[in-house]
Amino acid sequence: MCTEKEIKEFMNSLTPEQIEEGNKKQEAKNKEMYLEFSDAYSKGYCFLCGMKLDYFDYSETCFHWFLNPSNIKKKHFKNYLTEGIGFFKLESYFRWLAHIEKPFRNINDLKCETTKSKLLETTIKHKNIEWTLTYGKSDLEGHKDSKNANFPHFHLQMLVDELPFIRFNDFHIPFSKEDLFNIELLKQENVLFKNSQAPGMTDILEDSEMLEKIDEHCTVPDNEEDASLNFGTMIQMPEGKTMSDEEIAEIFEESKRTKRPVRHLMKEHFPDASIVSGVTPADGVPEKKKRNKR
Ligand SMILES: [Zn+2]
Ligand SMILES: [Zn+2]
Repeated sequence: MCTEKEIKEFMNSLTPEQIEEGNKKQEAKNKEMYLEFSDAYSKGYCFLCGMKLDYFDYSETCFHWFLNPSNIKKKHFKNYLTEGIGFFKLESYFRWLAHIEKPFRNINDLKCETTKSKLLETTIKHKNIEWTLTYGKSDLEGHKDSKNANFPHFHLQMLVDELPFIRFNDFHIPFSKEDLFNIELLKQENVLFKNSQAPGMTDILEDSEMLEKIDEHCTVPDNEEDASLNFGTMIQMPEGKTMSDEEIAEIFEESKRTKRPVRHLMKEHFPDASIVSGVTPADGVPEKKKRNKR
């Protein structure tokens, strides 16, 4: 494993061109892999092992086990999860599964909602399955007084039909070497992981360009629960002007009829009003599952 100092030196030795080139290559690789994934998925196959997604054999471990194939039991994960299966790879895999079902809204990786004692906490949903990946400082360092967890590890919860299938305390899953390198990288100020193939809430809320793109294509869903984001809108009328209740009602009526967002219509009806939109995650985003203190 590299030390923080070594990584810093490595980062500083890269030219902007090298960084851009590296990013481009990585992006192309991710895209290609995502296409393979989605193609296999649409046919009901696993892009990693090539078997049906519902296929299970005890001796053939694979990420698709987390999709709860027939006859799998928690005990089968016991051996599998003693290896460093790759935290970041697993997270991407879950993200892709969430994304292919419903873009954006099934991935809650918001920093502001993370439990204080945790360094990372992400809840991801796919159909009737929900995974939460988490680790804190003491997990990253290894629980010192523990015999079976005195190494760097993360925790995982898996719910099936909202019932626990794997609980946070069931396994201490070791970080792989690559994970530990990535974690060191993430500590650097100028390093950001972009989940370009399956962005989560963080990517949307912290990326104004992305936000604008989404905003342009936004329509008003019939069902509140289908919304990925709530746009809270504040309107300030110019001095001396007011907006009547009738006018407001009319705009809401038009929004309902045309499925166009209220704040866009406001702009048309009151071009000289200043309109500020703020964004908060909608209620449809899966709630992060918190680990209970023992
Ligand atoms: Zn597989
Ligand atoms: Zn732990």
